[in-house]
Amino acid sequence: MNREHPCRRHDVVIIGAGIAGLTAAHLLLKARPDLDLLVLEAKDRIGGRLLSKPVRCADGEVRQWCFGGTWASKTQCNLLELLKEMKIETFEQYRQGIKFVEMDNTVTQYEGGVPTIGLLNLLDLNLTLQALERQATGLKTSQPDQVERMDQDSVKSAVQRLTSREESELFLRGVVAPVLQGSDERMSQIHALNVAQSSGGFEKLFKDAQELRVDGGAQRITERLAEAVGPARLRLGWPVAEIRQSTDNDDENFRGEVCLLSESGDQLTSCLVLCTLPLASLNSVKFRPTLPPSKQQLANNCPTVSHTLKTIITYANAFWRQAGFSGEILSCQGQPTNPQSVSGSISVCYDACSRDGAHPALVVLASSGADRTASPNEHREALLNHLARFFPKEDVFNFIDYAEHSWCSEPYHSTCMASAVSVGCGSLLLSPELSKPFHRVHFAGSDMADEWIGYMEGAVQSAKRATAELLQAL
Ligand SMILES: Cc1cc2nc3c(=O)[nH]c(=O)nc-3n(C[C@H](O)[C@H](O)[C@H](O)COP(=O)(O)OP(=O)(O)OC[C@H]3O[C@@H](n4cnc5c(N)ncnc54)[C@H](O)[C@@H]3O)c2cc1C
Repeated sequence: MNREHPCRRHDVVIIGAGIAGLTAAHLLLKARPDLDLLVLEAKDRIGGRLLSKPVRCADGEVRQWCFGGTWASKTQCNLLELLKEMKIETFEQYRQGIKFVEMDNTVTQYEGGVPTIGLLNLLDLNLTLQALERQATGLKTSQPDQVERMDQDSVKSAVQRLTSREESELFLRGVVAPVLQGSDERMSQIHALNVAQSSGGFEKLFKDAQELRVDGGAQRITERLAEAVGPARLRLGWPVAEIRQSTDNDDENFRGEVCLLSESGDQLTSCLVLCTLPLASLNSVKFRPTLPPSKQQLANNCPTVSHTLKTIITYANAFWRQAGFSGEILSCQGQPTNPQSVSGSISVCYDACSRDGAHPALVVLASSGADRTASPNEHREALLNHLARFFPKEDVFNFIDYAEHSWCSEPYHSTCMASAVSVGCGSLLLSPELSKPFHRVHFAGSDMADEWIGYMEGAVQSAKRATAELLQAL
């Protein structure tokens, strides 16, 4: 076994170099520059779910585009404050002009915030949203038996029960799909209500979550944080496999420290640990002693569902803008039935042009049901054909570059947004114990947030909370 510095005990070891882990590292060092702090990251890169990749533009130059977390809201104070400190600017998401909504193979256009899905459907939708909003607001104060009952419903069955028209059901499931990014048949409705509640309600979530883009891409946030923390304090390619904590029954020399073992058997010790893994990844780490039952049960019941494909397509001209379109598409088509089918290739599409508009691009999120058996070429063909339902085919196919990132093939990745919790286990999400430390191991990450669960804002907010806990415990 490879033991680095056998006698050295770090003050704090942080697991995960995503935005939560690096924010906590930065804040801890700001408060206590003398700390012996180390950040362990399983992958060979920092950023976690924030990822920029190069895409070719019309001028032949290669520029970075966001393939992971992208948008911020003007109401996300913790994230905006961090951006300011890191000297990173934001700019408004381009949303001017006509938008598309597709349902049941019918494409309609609309301007402003109200989609043209028919008056009766809109009324039904409005009533459903009001009911959901009430449930989300009352979630934390609901009686336990009420919560247990709600927990028996999946997101899909809850939407089916609340809507009285097939079209409004289809539309609402289409709207929540990119937010929840998983199979709504297995997901507890408590999960969806909890995410909405933490973000100020469904309306705010749907309207505000895509207000701003981060100039230069969101991964810059983690790059700047990593610079501030310093390369000597970052260890990449160190997947934590086991976390051992001493208990009162242990040998005196071992008491009061946490021992971390990597997949390859490397070992190090720390006084305190901050774990920033998503709930759905906790299962990949062996905890000794085992995690408290509620945390363990949640970790066991977060199916890894992330089949999110994010695609950037660059063009010589923003043909959609020139024709008066915003580039925004919401497709509620459901899942494709065969690889040739274009249904479900697009869940949502947005304008992704550079800040100055000089480098035109579209960003597409494929639905979580996008065909997994299709080859990359088949998928590309299907996606472009799907886009050609909204824009002229010759424009769509005349792209400069087409680049995608499949999150399901990313190592050490389990979820895109908040970890989806199965029916029957959602009530555990409401336990105040969820984000509480387990002896010397503290928890942060966007799943452990009080606000904007599953978002960058949640990750930063949880990192601030955990930093305060660690500073007190040191
Ligand atoms: C496609 C996509 C689109 C998104 N869109 C948005 C958006 O527009 N706006 C928004 O706010 N959010 C968005 N998100 C969500 C946002 O990116 C995340 O909420 C946020 O980045 C989570 O940060 P984190 O630090 O909590 O977790 P992560 O970024 O997941 O960090 C955890 C880190 O732990 C590492 N790790 C895992 N296992 C181990 C192990 N055993 N040992 C050591 N390290 C390990 C991982 O590699 C990772 O680097 C999106 C995410 C995706 C994937």
